[in-house]
Amino acid sequence: VAEPFTVLVDTINNLQRSVSGARRLFEVMDMAEEDTRAGTVLEAGAPAIRYENIGFHYTEGAETLRNLSFTIPAGKSLALVGPSGAGKSTIVKLLYRFYDPQQGRIQVNDRPLQTYAIHSIRERMALVSQDIYLFDGTVAANIEVGKPGASRDEIIRAAKLAQAYAFIELLPNGMDSEIGERGIKLSHGQKQRLSIARAILRDASLLILDEPTSALDVETEASFQRDLGEWASGCTKIIIAHRLSTIRDADYIVFLEHGEAVEFGTAEELLRMNGRFRSYWEKQGREIGEEQSVV
Ligand code: ATP
Repeated sequence: VAEPFTVLVDTINNLQRSVSGARRLFEVMDMAEEDTRAGTVLEAGAPAIRYENIGFHYTEGAETLRNLSFTIPAGKSLALVGPSGAGKSTIVKLLYRFYDPQQGRIQVNDRPLQTYAIHSIRERMALVSQDIYLFDGTVAANIEVGKPGASRDEIIRAAKLAQAYAFIELLPNGMDSEIGERGIKLSHGQKQRLSIARAILRDASLLILDEPTSALDVETEASFQRDLGEWASGCTKIIIAHRLSTIRDADYIVFLEHGEAVEFGTAEELLRMNGRFRSYWEKQGREIGEEQSVV
């Protein structure tokens, strides 16, 4: 189930720079704040990520990830594809250091993930999703959580790059319109754009894109990556992907089943393999009526 994961990650993103908020959260996570600051600081720019023979279980005897290996070169995108419960969210949780794997290791820029300050890794990550956490407050304040203290100009610039500015301008009070429980209700697509605006404001270099499961939630024909626009080309991207258009646009795909990467490659390569990914692709295509050819 993606929702609790999304909410947790998004909450961490939001609270990252708010000291008291972060403290409260880390208390909940049973982790002292200084623990998150000890270690190497992740350098600027899109990181290269490598999972090496990862084995992970939440509970002894129930393996969630098995001997999982893949590489995402700096600035490239990887789509995690597979049935519900295959382990897609778990792969991302390991990168956030919510858990550490019992086997293997994750390398970031050729150094073990554990050698970095957790804070510095999380600070560079941003989650883009339709399930973003919005609080009662103005549109501007909700974007500002990407970088508390950002100027109005910075917020407007981020909203423009996220293609959110056009709909914001049409709201009764523009950037100062109240949203949340008692304010204006936003559509899924508008929420996603606000989440992109936060990520842009934050200057993230590692994006986690959590795509809606159901095609019914999808409002536009453009793929996730096209929605993200040019700015995301400078980021390394991990996409929990469901739509064929998103999968087709990804540089690499890991097809997961029961925590195992059964196939790895580009969409074109995997379709040629005529294996598990291909049958999944054809089944999904029939279910949601998307076109099936990628080449
Ligand atoms: P979905 O597409 O439905 O979101 P997923 O591929 O992201 O699924 P995960 O959420 O990573 O799959 O879950 C993989 C497996 O680990 C599932 O069997 C799930 O029940 C189990 N699992 C996930 N989180 C926990 C947890 N906190 N404790 C115990 N088991 C968990």
